[in-house]
Amino acid sequence: MATLEDYPKIAAGKVRELHAIDDDHLLLVASDRISAYDFVLDTPIPDKGRILTAMSVFWFDLLGDVVPNHLVAWDDPRIPAEVRGRALVVRRLDMLAVEAVARGYLAGSGTLDYNRTGAVCGIALPPGLVEGSKLPEPIYTPATKAPIGEHDENVTNDEIAEVIGTEHATVVRDLALEVYRRAADHAAERGIILADTKFEFGLLDGQVVLGDEVLTPDSSRYWPVETYQPGRAQHSFDKQFVRDWLTSPASGWDRASNTPPPALPDEVAEATRGRYIEAYEQVTGRKFADWIG
Ligand code: ATP
Ligand code: MG
Repeated sequence: MATLEDYPKIAAGKVRELHAIDDDHLLLVASDRISAYDFVLDTPIPDKGRILTAMSVFWFDLLGDVVPNHLVAWDDPRIPAEVRGRALVVRRLDMLAVEAVARGYLAGSGTLDYNRTGAVCGIALPPGLVEGSKLPEPIYTPATKAPIGEHDENVTNDEIAEVIGTEHATVVRDLALEVYRRAADHAAERGIILADTKFEFGLLDGQVVLGDEVLTPDSSRYWPVETYQPGRAQHSFDKQFVRDWLTSPASGWDRASNTPPPALPDEVAEATRGRYIEAYEQVTGRKFADWIG
């Protein structure tokens, strides 16, 4: 049986790690770490890695006819027992240096850009939109990948084309929009707003292939329909309990202080775990209890 030590670690992000299995295959491992307000918190959310991995697998399956993807196996002898259920065997891709963001709603950095320029990533939008507004149609707003600790920078697709070539830039844009539309339609049928999402693509034998995690709450904004209300920051399907507690007097934390937030109380971590499971089950129609690991 394989152990994690058999596979050299080749990259580590805030919440995930990437190991090499062989020349053609990687192991993508999701941890239970959670970030909020740009900090990785000291308190893990039990099962988060497994829940997000299960969600990625669901979406790779569902979208398989729209876009090829890197998934090889989610239950396989190459996956060490210690990470079973939160690790995927994937094809090693030559990653394209673009954070392929598709948005159906105005939020976050999109709103900042819009308020300054009336456009997002150079795409002009009608006047009068506010934080949370639904856009007339989904837009593609690529960003360059920033080093750890820095923010990704929104750019135009022409700037992306200078880096990855016009042909690949066009394919990535078209795929990002198509996959977003399909996923947002599915989520809407299940009573959830998929406000925006970020994809990463890579090349396999010259073909553009969907990589990384897909359509998880870490790479996407999921909003509950019941509390949706344009004009203010929307409630987050997964992180709202964490945010509410961190910004409440109970936490004693001052967001403006730029100091790391305190550990979460057990109830907040447990309630947040429940939200992730709810998001998974509502989006997929599957039971998390049936997932492996
Ligand atoms: P963060 O998301 O925390 O800001 P990050 O994006 O650098 O940081 P992760 O997302 O945790 O780190 O790590 C995933 C890394 O693996 C990314 O750099 C991504 O481009 C890369 N990756 C994903 N799938 C593949 C693949 N099939 N082949 C090669 N690299 C991949
Ligand atoms: Mg990432």
